Amino acid sequence: MKVTVDLDKCQDHGQCAIAAPEVFRINDEGRLEFDDAPAEELRDAVEEAADVCPVQAILIED
Ligand code: SF4
Repeated sequence: MKVTVDLDKCQDHGQCAIAAPEVFRINDEGRLEFDDAPAEELRDAVEEAADVCPVQAILIED
């Protein structure tokens, strides 16, 4: 699975990090970090993260 985040849209509030903490996290500087190639078994969590992102910044490419 390939994940991208439109960082121009992202507002770093971290809803994705609550939905899929294995993939998304807010670092010590308050900025989003994420795994752009998470394991397939995390797909449901990543889809949930994409759903809850208030600015629809998360894209799952395959
Ligand atoms: S939920 Fe969306 S806007 Fe918020 S940190 Fe995650 S990607 Fe960025």
